[in-house]
Amino acid sequence: MEYRQLGGTELKISVLGFGASPLGDVFRKTEPAERNAAVHFAVDQGINFFDVSPYYGLTLAEARLGEALAGRREKVVLATKCGRYGGSEFDFSAKTITAGFEESLKRLRTDYVDLLQAHDVEFGHVQQVVEETLPAMRRLQEQGKARYIGITGYSLKNLVEIAGKVKVDSILSYCRYNLLITDMDRSLAPFAKKHGIGLINASPLHMGIITERGAPEWHPAPQAVRDAGQQIVALCTERGLDAAEVALRFCLDYAGAASTLVGLSSRGHVERGLKALELKVEPELLREIAEVVAPVKDVTWASGLEENYG
Ligand code: NAD
Repeated sequence: MEYRQLGGTELKISVLGFGASPLGDVFRKTEPAERNAAVHFAVDQGINFFDVSPYYGLTLAEARLGEALAGRREKVVLATKCGRYGGSEFDFSAKTITAGFEESLKRLRTDYVDLLQAHDVEFGHVQQVVEETLPAMRRLQEQGKARYIGITGYSLKNLVEIAGKVKVDSILSYCRYNLLITDMDRSLAPFAKKHGIGLINASPLHMGIITERGAPEWHPAPQAVRDAGQQIVALCTERGLDAAEVALRFCLDYAGAASTLVGLSSRGHVERGLKALELKVEPELLREIAEVVAPVKDVTWASGLEENYG
C-alpha cells in the first residue's frame, strides 16, 4: 500500500481510502458479518484511512464503523464530519457542532478523531462557516478531540472561497475527479497545493454510476451522465475488465489528491479495490473512454444554496 502525507498535517494516509457511507445502507442493505469483514480485511491489508459522517444512514454508519473498529482504532486514521445530519438537515452553529461531535465520538467508540470535517459546506452560509463553525472545530482541536479539521463539499467554488477566508487542514470533494469529470484538478488542486492543504478525492465511481449495478435512484446526475457511465462499463466489459477497478485505477494515479475514498461495505469490494492498485490500464482504453465521455465531460449538477453553487 502506498501512503501519502495529507497536506501539511502529520497524517500519512493510504492512497486507497475506505469510504464508510455504504455501512449506513445508503446504497443497499448490508449485513453485520459482511460489514465487519470488510473493515477488518481492509485494516489487515493496510488501508488506514476511514471516512464517515453522522449523516450516513442517519448515524448508522458511524455506529457500525465504531463497532467494526473496536480494538483496531489505533491502526487507522479516522475522519468524521459535522454540520450535516440528514438529507436536508444542516446546522453549522457552534452549539450543534460541539454537541453533535460528542455523539459522534460515542458512536465511534473513541475519544478523538484524526480529522473532523464540516460536511457539505455549500449548504451553509459562508459567513457562518467561516466565523462560527470552523472556530468551534478549532476549539475541539485545542481540546485534543480532533487532531485536524477540514471542509467537504461538491461546489469547488464554495470550498475555495471558504478556505481562502479561514485556514483549514484538508478539503474533500466528491464527483469532481474521475473518468467522467476532472475539474477538481483545474481549480481546487492548485489552490490546495499553494496553501499546503491536504486534498481528498471522494466517489471515484461517481457515486455508483461507473459500476455494473449503475447509479442508485436518488443519484443527482443527469441521465446523459448515467448513460455515459454505462458506456464506460460496456467498454471495460468488452475487454474482460471490471469498470469499477478501471475507474478506481484512474483516480489512484492522480497525484493531486492524498487519498481516493471509495465506498466499501463488503470484503469483495475491498479485494477489488486492492486489485485496482495493481491494475495496468491500456492508454487505448482510456482514449476510447474519453471519446464516449466527451459529450458530457465535466457536467455538474446543482448542490446546496444557489448563491454558493459553482
Ligand atoms: P463511490 O463512487 O465510491 O461509489 C460507491 C458505490 O460503489 C457503492 O454502491 C459501492 O458498494 C460500490 N462499489 C465499491 N467498490 C465497487 C466495486 N469494486 N465494484 C462495484 N461496485 C463497487 O461513491 P461514495 O460511496 O459516495 O463515495 C466514497 C466515499 O467518499 C463515501 O463513502 C464517503 O466516505 C466519501 N464522500 C464524502 C462526501 C462528502 O463529504 N460530501 C460526498 C461523497 C462521498
